Amino acid sequence: MQIVTPGLVLREVKVGESDRIITLLTPKLGVITASAKGSLRLKSKLFSACGLFCYSEFTLFQGKTMYMVDDAQVKQVFFGVRESIEGTALAMYLAELTLTLSPTGTEAAALLRLLLNSLYLIGEGKKTPGQIKTVFELRALCEAGYMPALIGCGACGKYEGGPFYFNEAAGTLRCADCAAKEGKAPNLDGAALTALRHIALVEDKKIFSFSIPPESMEALGRAAEHYAAHHLDKPLKTLDFLKTVLL
Ligand SMILES: [Zn+2]
Repeated sequence: MQIVTPGLVLREVKVGESDRIITLLTPKLGVITASAKGSLRLKSKLFSACGLFCYSEFTLFQGKTMYMVDDAQVKQVFFGVRESIEGTALAMYLAELTLTLSPTGTEAAALLRLLLNSLYLIGEGKKTPGQIKTVFELRALCEAGYMPALIGCGACGKYEGGPFYFNEAAGTLRCADCAAKEGKAPNLDGAALTALRHIALVEDKKIFSFSIPPESMEALGRAAEHYAAHHLDKPLKTLDFLKTVLL
């Protein structure tokens, strides 16, 4: 059976002299693995289209153990991603996070849009790597079904005003007063909380359209990273590397 689908290459493994096994995120099939025979030959029509972080239109055949790439046409190459070590490290982390979440169905399509957006912004250099990382972590987790309870303080219902405590394990909020009663200190100021709600709830196109003071962004960044880590089974190797280059 032949399948035609767009796909973003999230991983490539060289096999033998000129073959590659690639892992793709597709909007309808989710994460799939495919063999791209001969794709490392410079003259191969698959050479660019099967490269890491390339977004291509794939023609696949269903093989016994995995798909076989019959044809691939480049749709978009994110050249800017490879131009800096920070950009490359961030893209590798977002790819590993995506593979770990392994979305299916409508989640896959949503996560693909988020990832394409993020790779584009990494290349553009107009948003900081920290902001892209934070938005991706929070939104990817929301899309995967881990939506935090952001309506207000879970104890008294207070919606805003003053700093809040975001419980990264539970995904719940406490106002400063209620947090104090539980022996917790606020970790998000008002701007960071507003941004958190924006990232979790706004429509796709506007996710990255906000700016908050650097110290609020840092606080939100810490919360997002912990929130993501709490909901994954294992620590991500690429995060350690990313942290060494983002300092
Ligand atoms: Zn409260």
